[in-house]
Amino acid sequence: MKSRLRIFIRGAVQGVGFRPFIYKLAENLELQGWVLNSGQGVTIEAEGEQKTLEEFLLRIKKEKPALSSIQSMESSFLDVKGYQGFEIRESKGGEKTALILPDIATCPDCRAEILDSKNRRYRYPFANCTNCGPRYSIIKSLPYDRANTTMKNFKMCSDCQGEYDDPQNRRFHAQPNACAECGPHLELWDRNKKVLADCDAALLGCAQMIKDGKIAAVKGIGGFHLMADARSFDVVKRLRERKHREAKPFAVMYPSLEEIKKDCNVSVLEERLLTSPETPIVLLTKKEKTSVCEDVAPCNPYLGVMMPYTPLHILLMENLKFPVVATSGNITEETICIDEQEVAETLCGIADVFLMHSRPIARHVDDSIVRIIEGREMVLRRARGFAPLPIPCQGAGDMVLSVGPHLKNTVSLSRDNNIFVSQHIGDLETAKSFYTFEETIKDLGTLYDIRPKVVACDVHPDYLSTQFARKMGLPVIQVQHHYAHVLSCMAENEIEGEVLGVAWDGTGYGLDTTIWGGEFFKVDNKGFTRFAHFRPFPLPGGEKAIKEPRRSAMGLLYSIFKEKAFKLKNIKAYKGFDVKEFQDLRTMLRKKINSPLTSSVGRIFDAVASLTGLCQIMQFEGQAAMMLEFAAGLETTDKVYSFSIEKGESLLIDGPSIKEILVDIEKDFHASFICAKFHNTLVDIIAAIVKRSGMEKIVLTGGCFQNKYLLEHAIQRLRAQKLSVYWHQRIPPNDGGISLGQVVAAHKELKS
Ligand code: ZN
Ligand code: ZN
Ligand code: FE
Repeated sequence: MKSRLRIFIRGAVQGVGFRPFIYKLAENLELQGWVLNSGQGVTIEAEGEQKTLEEFLLRIKKEKPALSSIQSMESSFLDVKGYQGFEIRESKGGEKTALILPDIATCPDCRAEILDSKNRRYRYPFANCTNCGPRYSIIKSLPYDRANTTMKNFKMCSDCQGEYDDPQNRRFHAQPNACAECGPHLELWDRNKKVLADCDAALLGCAQMIKDGKIAAVKGIGGFHLMADARSFDVVKRLRERKHREAKPFAVMYPSLEEIKKDCNVSVLEERLLTSPETPIVLLTKKEKTSVCEDVAPCNPYLGVMMPYTPLHILLMENLKFPVVATSGNITEETICIDEQEVAETLCGIADVFLMHSRPIARHVDDSIVRIIEGREMVLRRARGFAPLPIPCQGAGDMVLSVGPHLKNTVSLSRDNNIFVSQHIGDLETAKSFYTFEETIKDLGTLYDIRPKVVACDVHPDYLSTQFARKMGLPVIQVQHHYAHVLSCMAENEIEGEVLGVAWDGTGYGLDTTIWGGEFFKVDNKGFTRFAHFRPFPLPGGEKAIKEPRRSAMGLLYSIFKEKAFKLKNIKAYKGFDVKEFQDLRTMLRKKINSPLTSSVGRIFDAVASLTGLCQIMQFEGQAAMMLEFAAGLETTDKVYSFSIEKGESLLIDGPSIKEILVDIEKDFHASFICAKFHNTLVDIIAAIVKRSGMEKIVLTGGCFQNKYLLEHAIQRLRAQKLSVYWHQRIPPNDGGISLGQVVAAHKELKS
C-alpha cells in the first residue's frame, strides 16, 4: 500500500548538506517526491510503500549529516499524489510567520558536557544550546530574544556571553544559554518551605530522598512532576493514596534506553520516538517480568515510558539508576502546577520534599503521550515537544478562536493558513483549570498577535467553555461535537470533499436532545448529515452513569428486554447495587426520569465491560473500554455477534447483540473471547454502514479510536475493500482534537 509521507524538520538543517543527503537517501530507497528549504526548516514529501517510508524516517535520524541537528521532526502520512522521480526544489522565500518552537529534549552534545568532569558545565542542570532546551515554556513574547523570556533576569557571565556572540559556537544566540556561574540554580525545600540544600547538593539530596522511598515534587521544564521509586509497591501505594488516584496508570521515567528494553518491548519506531527531540511518553507493551511494580499500571499490558529529557532529569536518573514514577504534579485532572509557592502549598500533602529551581516557567506544558498504531505515531496527549506547532490548513485565513470541549480541553487559534492548537489544558472541572483555560486563550492570542473575529464553541449550553465564548462579545459559531471530531481528523490528513465520518466516543451533545456518541456522518464542503447511528438507550442517573458501567448495562438491558430486564438471572451488573439503589434506577427507567438517551459507543463498551464482569465502577475515565480492549487483545478469534440495521431518517443500528453476549456469558465463555467477538462485530458494523453509504473516504475519529484493536482491525477491513481510510496522527482522536475541528467548522461557515 503506497502513501505519501510529509516530513517537516526544524533545526540546524540548512547549509549543512541536508538536501543532498535527503536526495541520495530517497534515490537509494527508490522514493518519489521532493525536498525544499523553507523559511523555518526543510520540508520533504516522499512517496512509496509504507515500510520503505518508515525506513526513510529512521535513516534520516540515524544518517543525517554530521553538522546538522534536528530540533523537531513532524511527519504525517497523506494520500499519494503520483510524483515522478525525486527532486531538490528551489525555495521561494516562503512564509515568515514567526514560529515558536516547542521545548526540545537535551541534545547529545549538551548531555556529554554535563557528564564530563572537565567541562565547565559538568553537572549543571540547565545546560542547553541552539539545538536543545526550553522554548515554549520560557517565551513571554515575540521576538524570541532573551529579554522576552523568563531568562531575562539572568545576566550572562563573560564565558556565556562569548559563546552567545560567536557565530561558530553551538550556543550562538541560544536564548536560554547559562552556566553555574550565571544561570538558574537548584534548591531543595522541605514541606515548610525551608531550604535544605542548594545546587548540586540539592539534586543529590533529592535523589537520596527518592532512594529512601520518599515522594519528591520536581520542577521540570513545563511544570512539576511527582517522582518516586517505581519498583516499590509501598511507595507507589502511598503516592496513589496521597494523590487520590486509585488505578489510573502512572508514567515512568527510565535512566536509559537499555533499562527500558529490559522491561518493555521496543520496536524501531518506538525507539526513534523515545529518543526524539520531542521525547514523549510512549506506550510500550510490558515484558512478562518488569522491574517496576504492578501497581504502577495495574491490570494493564502497557507501560507509559519516557527518557530523561532535560539535564536536570539526566543527572537525577544517572544518580538513581532505577525507574521512577514521573506523574504530573497536580491534583487529579487539574492543570499541572508551575509555580513554586503554589506547588509548596498544593502538593504539600503529597510530596515529602521539593526540588525547586529559579528559572520561572512562563506557561504549563505537560508531557505528551504517543502510541504506535498501524505503523504510525498517534498522539494521545499533545503538549511538550509538539505544542505550539501549527496544523497547516489552506483557506484558514480568518482569525478564529475555538474554545474546545469540557474534558481534555485544548483551544485553537487560526491565522495565515495555520491553526495553532494549544497544549493540553485538562478537564475544566475546577477553578484552577478554568483559570488556565482563560490564560491560555489570552496567551496564544498575544504570542501570535491574533485578534479573533469569531469564536467557535460546542453546542452544549452548559459547558463552561461555551458560556465563556458567549460572553466574549464576538459572533459565536456553535459546532456539534462529533462533527468537530470528523473535521479535525480531515484537517490533519488534509482531505476535503465528501467523506463518511465515523465518530465514536463517550458523550457529546446531540442536535435532537439526546446524547450522541455512535455516529456516522456524511460530511461534504457544506456540512454534515447524520447518516447512521446506534439505537439510543437510557442512562439511569445521567452523569453518574459515565462513572458506573453497571448503569449503562442496566439501561441497555432495559432498552432491549423492557420489564423482563429486571428479572434476568446472573447479571453481574446487578450484583453490586443495594436493593434501594436498584429500585431507584428501575423507577427512573420506567418513568423516564433522569435517564437521558444516548447512542454512545463508549457507553456500549461500558455496558459490555459490566456484563462480562470486567468493570462495574470506573476509577478513571476510559477504564472500562481499556479493559475490553486489553481482554480482546488476548484472543485471535474472528467470530462475531449479530446486529441489524433499520431504515429510517438515519439508519438505526442494533448490536452487537446483547442477547447473544448473555448466552456466551451463560455458557461461561472467557471474557476475552466475548470481548474479541464484540470488537469484531463493531468492525463489521462499520463495514456494513460504509457499504450502504457508497462513500470511498472513511474517517475514523473520537475517543473510541484510541483503541488499537478496534482501529487496526477497522483499517485493515476497509483497506481490503479498496477504500481510503483516515485516522489521527498528530492530533488526538479524543476530545483534545475538538478545538481544531471547531476552527475548521467556523472557517467553512464563514466561507459559505
Ligand atoms: Zn544542546
Ligand atoms: Zn555563564
Ligand atoms: Fe468526544
